[in-house]
Amino acid sequence: MRDFKVNICGVPHEVVFKDDSFTACETHFGEIKYKECKITLSTGMPPEMEKQTLIHEMVHGFFTHLGYNNLAGDEVLVQSLAQAMAQSFEVKKEL
Ligand SMILES: [Zn+2]
Repeated sequence: MRDFKVNICGVPHEVVFKDDSFTACETHFGEIKYKECKITLSTGMPPEMEKQTLIHEMVHGFFTHLGYNNLAGDEVLVQSLAQAMAQSFEVKKEL
C-alpha cells in the first residue's frame, strides 16, 4: 500500500510502510512516533490486520493528544478499543 496521512485530533500524521517486522515485540506490527507525527506499519499483513494495526496506533495517538498519557501506554485497552472501532466500522459498511 502507498504511504498516506491520517488525522489524529487535527494533526496530520504520515503513515509509512516498512518491509521488516518490528524487533521490539513479535506481536507488534506498528509504531507511532508522537513527536514526528509518523506511524509506521509492517508490510505483508492481511488487510483486516493492517487496518486494525493502523487504528491501534491511532488510538495511542488519540490518548496522547487528549492528555491521557497514562492510558496511551495501556496496550490491552488500546487494542480493545482498536478492535471495537474496526468491528464497528465493518458492521456499518454492511448496513
Ligand atoms: Zn500498541
